[in-house]
Amino acid sequence: CKIDFQPSADLLKERIVLVTGAGDGIGRAAALSYALHGATVILLGRTISKLEKVYDEIEEAGGPQPAIFPLNFEGATLKDFHDMAETLHKEFGRLDGILHNAGLLGRITPFEQYNPELWGQVMQVNINGPIWMTQALLPLLQASEDASVIFTSSGVGRKGRAFWGAYSVSKFATEGFMEVLADEVGSQDNLRVNTLNPGATRTQMRRSAYPGEDAATLRTPEEIMPTYLWLMGPDSRGINGQKWDAQPPRG
Ligand code: NDP
Repeated sequence: CKIDFQPSADLLKERIVLVTGAGDGIGRAAALSYALHGATVILLGRTISKLEKVYDEIEEAGGPQPAIFPLNFEGATLKDFHDMAETLHKEFGRLDGILHNAGLLGRITPFEQYNPELWGQVMQVNINGPIWMTQALLPLLQASEDASVIFTSSGVGRKGRAFWGAYSVSKFATEGFMEVLADEVGSQDNLRVNTLNPGATRTQMRRSAYPGEDAATLRTPEEIMPTYLWLMGPDSRGINGQKWDAQPPRG
């Protein structure tokens, strides 16, 4: 955990960073924070109006002009990912980072009642989509001098918990895929792959998972940004295949 990391204002200067699920919650905070530290951010998500709001906020704050990339992981095909890679290649020529942040909670419910269709949707959004998007974007990452790929994990992706079903399994898969890819790129000094668990954070997803909880006791997305900045920026160069937390465990 690098919650005390103090980033310089130009930490991500000249970097081109893709953030998925950039319209809300942690992804929105990360997109803003990356832009305000100098990155050109590609805002990917499924609700265009939310992405446009983040776009405007970045412009108003004087960050580098971002780009909007509408994509719904449910239903996105290999062709969509390859078209995306082609568009980004034409526009930017490379990618210096991906924050895989988009996520779907599914339902917190006993396994015996879990709907298989919903299970498939959660796996599609949380792991299968991000895997094939990453494959399509690998050449753009390879074209960077120092690229960081961050997959968003969860406490239930490191230890299983009753009723968390597909969400927990998708986060275990995320940790597993990160290890496989990190091992493959381990000898390359221009590409690193790690997971980051945000920890309990005040967002809509957290409210859905814990409806009775007092949200005031939770850190906001803005408060957990130091680790997000550190893992995306040059200070974490050489860090590969590791599992990070964005905040200390709650006491
Ligand atoms: P939110 O629900 O607030 O935001 C999730 C984002 O993902 C939204 O922007 C949403 O878009 C986007 N998204 C969902 N489904 C799709 C899809 N099919 N295609 C494209 N984008 C999609 O969640 P958080 O900010 O809380 O979560 C961010 C990440 O952090 C997730 O991976 C989550 O699992 C993880 N996490 C969060 C924790 C917490 O306490 N908040 C704890 C541990 C992990 P839209 O706005 O259009 O719905």
